[in-house]
Amino acid sequence: MNETPETGIDFVRHQITLDNSSGRFGGTVATRFPPEPNGYLHIGHAKSIVLNFGIAQDFSGTCNLRFDDTNPTREDVEYVDSIQQDIRWLGFGWHDRLFYASDYFEQLYQWALHLIEHDLAYVDELTADQIREYRGTPTEPGRNSPWRDRPRQENLELFARMRAGEFPDGHCILRAKIDMAHPNINMRDPALYRIRHARHHRTGDDWCIYPTYDFAHGQSDAIEGITHSICTLEFENHRPLYDWLLSHLPVPHVPRQIEFARLNLTWTVMSKRKLLRLVQEKYVEGWDDPRMPTISGMRRRGYTAEGIRDFCRRIGVSKTNSTVDLALLEFSQREDLNARSPRFMGVVDPVKLTITNWPAGQVEWFDASTSAEDPTVDIRRIPCTGNLWVEREDFMEDAPRKWFRLAPGKEVRLKFAWYVTCTGVVRDAHGEIQEILCTYDPESRGGETPDQRKVKGTIHWVSADHGLPAHIRLFEPLFTREDPDEADDFTTVINEHSCTVMNGYLEPALQELKAGETVQFLRMGYFCRDSRLDTPEHPVFNRAVTLKDSWARVIRNQRENE
Ligand code: ATP
Ligand code: MG
Repeated sequence: MNETPETGIDFVRHQITLDNSSGRFGGTVATRFPPEPNGYLHIGHAKSIVLNFGIAQDFSGTCNLRFDDTNPTREDVEYVDSIQQDIRWLGFGWHDRLFYASDYFEQLYQWALHLIEHDLAYVDELTADQIREYRGTPTEPGRNSPWRDRPRQENLELFARMRAGEFPDGHCILRAKIDMAHPNINMRDPALYRIRHARHHRTGDDWCIYPTYDFAHGQSDAIEGITHSICTLEFENHRPLYDWLLSHLPVPHVPRQIEFARLNLTWTVMSKRKLLRLVQEKYVEGWDDPRMPTISGMRRRGYTAEGIRDFCRRIGVSKTNSTVDLALLEFSQREDLNARSPRFMGVVDPVKLTITNWPAGQVEWFDASTSAEDPTVDIRRIPCTGNLWVEREDFMEDAPRKWFRLAPGKEVRLKFAWYVTCTGVVRDAHGEIQEILCTYDPESRGGETPDQRKVKGTIHWVSADHGLPAHIRLFEPLFTREDPDEADDFTTVINEHSCTVMNGYLEPALQELKAGETVQFLRMGYFCRDSRLDTPEHPVFNRAVTLKDSWARVIRNQRENE
């Protein structure tokens, strides 16, 4: 569905190939990514970024970064900065091709005058409500505004006075004069300019009229020599207007608009308006909260740019809206993190394990590689004593037959170290297990014994005498339902358990890890040292993704068989 059968490329690239062979743009390819700086970029934007910058790479073309900054009331330089940082982090650059629609305000104004001079635009004084009423519906034609036929000279004067700031917001607008009975509502004399007495983050107080998206976008594409203006499907029925404006203005160049389906993800809201609400109403820590679908949130969580790009390639590009399973994004991350993350030991939900036959005060050190591939490189030292932390879930009192982890009477291998056999437990006043008691086999150092006896289970551990206390944050989706957009108000389906903070212990070598670096904690998943909350005294780690939990499957199968 996403690929044209003949070529194996997506339909956008297919169209570009056709244009190149017909010579429509002289064989050149110029795309752009046009964010409005009114929020942080999210994974949906990543799809568009990978598409636009990726096409430029594939066709030896260019991709501009253009801020679509035509709405001063919602925009901010904080967003301008974060957007640039996120695109760079994703692995794309724009060299000197950074543009702002606001740079074209004067040219756009001149083109608006051109339309008025050619009787193709007029100043309308209907109120917003009247304009809506006159517009008609998809099944009924609209009606002409009483101001539609005012003389050209009067339009020119009024438009000049709009610009000069003589009217308050909403007093009048400039509209294209197309056709109030057009079957496409976007063609029923669409708005081109609105009065908005608001300070703009780049042009300051120079302007009090601002072009609409429709008037700014295509003309900005034309100014920049964009060949293929790739946008999401909701702009499909704006295309006739896009083409109409370009054909009635003395633009230097006429681009082609191509629409593709936006990315939707299960368990996720993607609209910037909703993400802003999550931030403003403090449901999350900020735009870069690791539970947010923003690029900055994913980076903080420990997701990699390579994994995000891989995900974008896997989902492809199509003309039909659909919702992608969040598990696919996690799969791409797991694949990439598996290949690049050094392996360490960290206990997330600790319980004490005491080796009762351990010589008092003895410390043993093990050399072990953090590499998944080559056991001879990246060696770090791990201390072991008779007081350990192990994972609470690695102990079971009434274990089923195929349980290969800790249980009374069972022997397991401590990763890199010795075999231990569980001899009992100590409980607190509430009956909670406080401590697991074991003996170790001193002949099993490194995980082998002279009698070569087999031990099936291997568990991770941290020396309680050396362990680094850390806050370990485990995440679930931010919503309790797969389709939060379907709820009447998406804030009513927020998952209260979306972030659980565990008091874990890490092997001491992790003290050296830098904020923003991701490692695997053996058997527990991939964890990134937090870049905001972490302090040298108290490390904070975020779980990016779990490992595939084969244990859970084994246990489930086995319970079913019993
Ligand atoms: P919102 O409607 O949530 O504010 P937007 O589409 O208005 O988002 P922009 O900043 O205008 O946000 O988007 C910049 C570019 O990214 C546009 O070309 C837009 O089509 C694209 N884009 C935005 N969201 C998605 C998405 N979910 N999937 C694919 N592309 C997207
Ligand atoms: Mg937009």
